[in-house]
Amino acid sequence: MKDKIWLSPPHLSGKEKEFIEDAFEKNWVTSMGENINEFEKGLQEFLKDDIDVCVLNSATSAIHLSLIMLGVSFNDEVITSAFSFIASANPIAYCGATPIFIDSEKSTWNMCPAALEVAVKDRTSKGKKPKAIIVVHLYGMPAKMDEILKIAEEYDIPVIEDAAEALGSAYKGKACGTFGRFGILSFNGNKIITTSGGGALVCHTQEDKDKAVFLSTQARDNAPHYQHSHIGYNYRMSNIVAGIGRGQMEVLNDRVEARRKMHGFYIELFNDIEGVEVFSEPSGDYFSNHWLSAIIVNPEITGKTREDLRLAFLEDNIESRPLWKPMHLQPVFVDAPYYGTNIAEKLFDNGLCLPSGSNLSDEDRSRIRSVIKKCFFIN
Ligand SMILES: *Cc1c(COP(=O)(O)O)cnc(C)c1O
Repeated sequence: MKDKIWLSPPHLSGKEKEFIEDAFEKNWVTSMGENINEFEKGLQEFLKDDIDVCVLNSATSAIHLSLIMLGVSFNDEVITSAFSFIASANPIAYCGATPIFIDSEKSTWNMCPAALEVAVKDRTSKGKKPKAIIVVHLYGMPAKMDEILKIAEEYDIPVIEDAAEALGSAYKGKACGTFGRFGILSFNGNKIITTSGGGALVCHTQEDKDKAVFLSTQARDNAPHYQHSHIGYNYRMSNIVAGIGRGQMEVLNDRVEARRKMHGFYIELFNDIEGVEVFSEPSGDYFSNHWLSAIIVNPEITGKTREDLRLAFLEDNIESRPLWKPMHLQPVFVDAPYYGTNIAEKLFDNGLCLPSGSNLSDEDRSRIRSVIKKCFFIN
């Protein structure tokens, strides 16, 4: 059996262990310490803008915390993208609120501003003005932020940016994760940088950051004994895990460059294959980190389906994966309202994510190339 080529494996810099060892030496084996402070500072400097970052144990926790900080509770409604990983929607359910799913538009695959406006008007007319909009930048592609923020402002609804897949992406030169009232980042093992598991909440005021730290560390009031007047959570990142993050920050720019190069490799490869479209930025306003490279296969032109290609990869021990199955089609969310014209559904039917790791070798790429060429009968 040939070595497995993964869809998006971790890629360490080698510096991570030094920061972890430093924490051990100084005995900061806890949820405070230099690694946490420096990782947060590194993210703030990377994202620029006037922001404060609170690192947490996952992006899922970060989304949950942002909803809590916006006062989302039982029987509220929160809008989010139908086309995403389930972690964008689950925290809405944790609050006892209902997710309202919005379809994609064709150019970015992200939240369709037209469908968003229809949904906001319709929910509001039913006496249920949405409490928040969670907009996702899928596969690193920035959403149509100008249009979405305009609607959010007009109806005075706070925006949470799920930038879990989009660290290093930008819209009109501004970093993804810094547009909304809150931004969310993920350092899960498959993301563009990893801490093995972890996330961050991007805040715009010191007050919000302080509140996020307070709520994520069990909401302890200022007293010598344990005193509590709020429900708290155990969501803070550990100082050991933050050491991995510090080591990863040193190579973040390289990782973005390498993922974008993988995208370039696929653009060139599929240039010769009619009926396959590589997901790309619609214009110069969009800068994607190309966390995952993805394609849409037109079976009528190619005579092949995305499943044919997935199975051909599998045969060669190469991992690929269908695009996200839309949330309104998930059994767990069948009862949730949905607004759109089934664009995400068609993307799911015909789309495939391709191996996109920043540490693929030339040999790996040549294996990938052979499978693709064989599948589509190209010499
Ligand atoms: C990975 C991911 C999350 C969740 O991140 P975790 O850190 O694993 O909790 C949320 N939203 C999107 C779009 C993701 O891809």
